[in-house]
Amino acid sequence: MQVIRSVKEMKTRSMDLRRHGKTIGFVPTMGFLHEGHLSLVDLIRKDCDILLLSIYVNPTQFGVGEDFDKYPRDTERDLELCRSRGVDLVFIPESSEIYAENASTYVVEEEVGMGMCGNARPNHFRGVATVCAKLFNLCLPNYVALGQKDAQQVVVLKRMIRDLHFPIEVVVGPILREPDGLAMSSRNKYLQPKQREEALLVYQSIQAAQKVVEEKGSSNVDRVKAEVLNVLKQGRLLRVNYVDIVDRGTMRPEKEIAAGRSLLAVAVWVDQVRLIDNFCF
Ligand code: AMP
Repeated sequence: MQVIRSVKEMKTRSMDLRRHGKTIGFVPTMGFLHEGHLSLVDLIRKDCDILLLSIYVNPTQFGVGEDFDKYPRDTERDLELCRSRGVDLVFIPESSEIYAENASTYVVEEEVGMGMCGNARPNHFRGVATVCAKLFNLCLPNYVALGQKDAQQVVVLKRMIRDLHFPIEVVVGPILREPDGLAMSSRNKYLQPKQREEALLVYQSIQAAQKVVEEKGSSNVDRVKAEVLNVLKQGRLLRVNYVDIVDRGTMRPEKEIAAGRSLLAVAVWVDQVRLIDNFCF
């Protein structure tokens, strides 16, 4: 496994690989890897000659007062996990190289990234789209694997890839969960035992919604949202950021829930820790 830290070297390497007809599969991450990240590596393994994973905590996708400084980092552990999972190349760029001091060019998606996390975290998707465009240009992937855990991010990046004509195919992996159902996230590291317990309500609220729709046959958006909120309000440390039911392709609010089309997306704060989860009906 090779670790590349310089932008110039990354460019040379990816151009060389593509010139030799190699297929590059890319998993962009912010590190502090867990099984959710690694499952994305597995997902594209069979389609790719080279598995490339990047580790970069991207400052521009964090808002003022968010957790950029304390975001968990452990590069040695990440590299060990990558090695054990058969990753070929790890790109760990320096911020000073990704963003020139006077960098003034950003990528802004103006439709699917506006609601939900786009609304709760202004400029978040601008940061995500910008850094991904840069990483795609440097890594030249044929395939990019993204997690359904960040459902809106998937839709934003698919839109950007289409609109900017990146010759990249997106592969989406399912949400990986802890045995008790909590969606895996690097941010789970922040959770103290009591907070961890309440974080589980997010998954339980989603299960409650699933039950109302699947067992009771309800397609009523307000009823299902009420069910979700009802479970979430049991958490004393928990504040709801948003609960939305949207069309999974357009991210527009649904009037009625339809199987195969509607997405329930939940974002909460457990004390200072922000968690998201979702479910496709
Ligand atoms: P992050 O390091 O949080 O930026 O995530 C990097 C990639 O891993 C994104 O495409 C995420 O959607 C994906 N990811 C994060 N958590 C999970 C999970 N629990 N299951 C599946 N994919 C995940």
